[in-house]
Amino acid sequence: MSCIFCKIVAGEISNYTVYEDANMLAFLDVHPCSKGHTVIVPKKHVENLSAMDGELWNTTLAGVQQALKKVYTALKPDGVNIGINDGEAAGQTVPHVHWHIIPRYKGDAGGSVHSIIRSKESFDVSAVAKMFS
Ligand code: AMP
Ligand code: ZN
Repeated sequence: MSCIFCKIVAGEISNYTVYEDANMLAFLDVHPCSKGHTVIVPKKHVENLSAMDGELWNTTLAGVQQALKKVYTALKPDGVNIGINDGEAAGQTVPHVHWHIIPRYKGDAGGSVHSIIRSKESFDVSAVAKMFS
């Protein structure tokens, strides 16, 4: 087993657990973007979102909700950003699907989800919309 998150789930690497149930484990990120930055992983190894079936989506989102409650209760942040880096192009470094909960505090000088990327290309939104039909 080479996956670092599978090793954490198996107890081979220690973690600071935030929430755990039969299917999910949430733990503090060791390189936090903010106080209480939490990573939530399904215990089953799945590389990315496209590989998740409907049942796993349901159990995963339920775990994210429970972890979120823990974060709000313990740290009382003023808000959170929740995100997934899905795929290398999106910044995924650990190929075991995971959610980030990044607590936010008033005056922390961070940005919103919109600050991840602001493409230099301009797009005709109606032309993009046609790509969905
Ligand atoms: P990503 O870039 O979305 O794949 O995120 C992987 C995250 O896992 C990074 O934020 C890392 O800081 C975090 N991480 C890597 N190894 C560990 C570990 N042993 N314990 C906790 N967090 C980790
Ligand atoms: Zn894994």
